[in-house]
Amino acid sequence: MFILERVYDLDELVLHNVHTHSVNSLCAKPEMTPEAMIRRAEEAGLKTLCVTDHSDPGDAIDTYANFLTYKEKLRSIDTPVRVLIGAELSAYGVGKYAEPFEVDRALDFASYSHIHYHLACWEHPADRSPRGYAEHELRVLNALFESGRADHIAHPFSPLKMHFFNEAEKAATLDAITENELGEILEKGERAACSWELHTPTVFRFPAFSRRMFCLGKEIGVHFLVGTDAHRLADLAPQGLAERLKAALGQTP
Ligand SMILES: [Zn+2]
Ligand SMILES: [Zn+2]
Repeated sequence: MFILERVYDLDELVLHNVHTHSVNSLCAKPEMTPEAMIRRAEEAGLKTLCVTDHSDPGDAIDTYANFLTYKEKLRSIDTPVRVLIGAELSAYGVGKYAEPFEVDRALDFASYSHIHYHLACWEHPADRSPRGYAEHELRVLNALFESGRADHIAHPFSPLKMHFFNEAEKAATLDAITENELGEILEKGERAACSWELHTPTVFRFPAFSRRMFCLGKEIGVHFLVGTDAHRLADLAPQGLAERLKAALGQTP
């Protein structure tokens, strides 16, 4: 389900942060309580704040119980910010998902990770070359779109978690995706009503691929949303983010 109309104006897109972690993610700072996140979002003028805590296979986290607790808490918080309670769910292999379908669909926002290779449970391709990873990720995303589970793809194709590759090999996994393959998967996501993340840490680290995806996505008419992957309050709405994104993605003012 799309939560925002098609927007390519980065000044507008940065007002909707769809990738943030609260204290329910072990990696987030203790300051990331829902109340503090909402206050910070208000101060920064965010229109949408989406909380996407991790949901990994075999973790001790009850994603659905946490969702209900946060929804209940929101009832007592008065804010102009549209607060969505979602999760960063796991497509940890081809057709492999950590949560039951019903849980995904109950959340306000089912954001899916397909690249958490730092986790022991994550599936790797038999061919561990950059091209092997590119093909594997396309297979994972194809199956995910056919499953109807995802509202959003968090950090699409990001090599940030490929600690087994050097920088050149990480970039090679992105270059290994052909223009046709990228176009086809972007279209398939759009038909599945699934948006694509402009994941700011990935955009700044791999601007060439990010620009390629953004340009092709605009041509095709896909939905993009911005996510900062905030684990601390300072990263919820960083100063100057739109300008930095415009420079990285080649959007002229
Ligand atoms: Zn992630
Ligand atoms: Zn995240």
